[in-house]
Amino acid sequence: MEQVLNFIGGEITESHSGRTAPVYNPATGEQSREVVLSSADEVRSAIAAAQKAFPRWAGTSPLRRARILFKFKALLEENMDELARLISNEHGKVYSDAVGELTRGLEVVEFACGIPHLLKGEHSLNVGTGVDSNSLMQPLGVCAGISPFNFPAMVPMWMFPVAIASGNTFVMKPSEKDPSTSVRLAELLKQAGLPDGVFNVVHGDKEAVDVLLTDHRIQAVSFVGSTPIAEYIYSTASAHGKRCQALGGAKNHAVIMPDADLDLAANALMGAAFGAAGERCMAISVAVAVGDEVADQLIARLKPQVEALRVGPGVVEGQENDMGPLVSAVHRDKVVGYIDQGEQEGAELVVDGRGLRVPGHEAGYFVGGTLFDKVTPEMTIYREEIFGPVLAVVRVPDYASALELVNNHEYGNGTAIFTRDGHAGRQFSHDVLAGMVGVNVPIPVPMAFHSFGGWKRSVFGPLNVHGPDGVRFYTRMKTVTSRWPSEPQQSAEFSMPTMK
Ligand code: NAD
Repeated sequence: MEQVLNFIGGEITESHSGRTAPVYNPATGEQSREVVLSSADEVRSAIAAAQKAFPRWAGTSPLRRARILFKFKALLEENMDELARLISNEHGKVYSDAVGELTRGLEVVEFACGIPHLLKGEHSLNVGTGVDSNSLMQPLGVCAGISPFNFPAMVPMWMFPVAIASGNTFVMKPSEKDPSTSVRLAELLKQAGLPDGVFNVVHGDKEAVDVLLTDHRIQAVSFVGSTPIAEYIYSTASAHGKRCQALGGAKNHAVIMPDADLDLAANALMGAAFGAAGERCMAISVAVAVGDEVADQLIARLKPQVEALRVGPGVVEGQENDMGPLVSAVHRDKVVGYIDQGEQEGAELVVDGRGLRVPGHEAGYFVGGTLFDKVTPEMTIYREEIFGPVLAVVRVPDYASALELVNNHEYGNGTAIFTRDGHAGRQFSHDVLAGMVGVNVPIPVPMAFHSFGGWKRSVFGPLNVHGPDGVRFYTRMKTVTSRWPSEPQQSAEFSMPTMK
């Protein structure tokens, strides 16, 4: 069985931990590889490699660091097809969606290529007579990233391009469910000219992660994954004196107002709820219909489209499927369990995706598109993140009830409103308790030069990923105040210095 190995100090590195985990092709249900689960000592050796590489890398000019990232970007483009197939074969998402996630990751590389400009800092001439102030944005040292299964390329690329462009070195711990992409990215970084030890990949589970959270050499931890683990990561890393950003789970609502273009809204909901089989932290999983008439018309538009979803393997010759399988058998069973529960708790099951059979792929982890109507806030399928192709329609009487519903949910990652009323869109953007808002845009993922992150229990830590927050997260600000007097100072001053 092919093994997915660590990448430490610029080399593919064997593991002697004796522990591995299977990696499956979710479309066939067959094991394709096994990934090593690193021991604590192996993670420490990756941290040591990153620590060794740090002084030289931090001393390399930002322009030279950026030039390596420019080459990396070109290599990503050259190898897009191979990377997209790798993602699809381990995650299950359809090929064009894998290309989409690579493109969104590549955009962060493009942003990081502007690092000479981003690290200029601030300068004030004459903060006092003959006194100037300027800031230095210095790298932190060795940083760590821990990523989820659902974006094996994009989420690591939310983290390491900005980190290494800023002069840090990095240890990446990808999801053990689809670990190969990170190793391929490490190889491409090396090919682009990145010095050995600047970017390392260690595979593993809690044992590996705990070293990254507690080792004194790690300065900052960036985590993306489920909320319970995000809470654990944030509290443990913070207790060990590290800077931490931990992005968690989601339950994203789209509010459909009575004046909305319902064809636009229904089409947008289809992509946002069922793209990537709902395994996106920005997927819309709740449609909040304002008024029964809107709900009835929405269901009438959605039902035939959900029934017509093409579900199958991610990589096919000819016409592509709309949606692939879920990532694992365990996750498929969990999603099916939620559909059972929705039915038991009294939601109206309009389209049932359970028991879907994909000819030739009977052992794949498929669940068909599922649509519930008349879901209420007490139901488990409303409260919890399902992370599957399940869309719940909740009916509310008016805008105020819609806003209250969204704001009362424990998660606040993304949200959207569909309306033709500019005032309603503007008011919603101001009042809603969520980190990313779309107005007639179903998945408002900010571009790389803005920052990405939610509110409430969807994020822990003050700084979001990429964009200006990303640069702040991976740098430490130092403010230098300087004076070059031409005359010797006459006497000591004992009062608190004030600028004159
Ligand atoms: P997960 O929390 O199970 O795993 C994320 C990472 O944490 C993996 O690398 C995993 O190996 C590690 N991990 C798992 N259990 C651990 C433990 N006990 N101790 C230490 N580390 C542990 O998440 P997942 O299932 O891979 O990903 C799906 C989740 O990620 C969903 O909740 C989704 O909403 C969330 N997500 C959020 C965002 C965001 O931007 N907010 C983006 C993508 C995914």
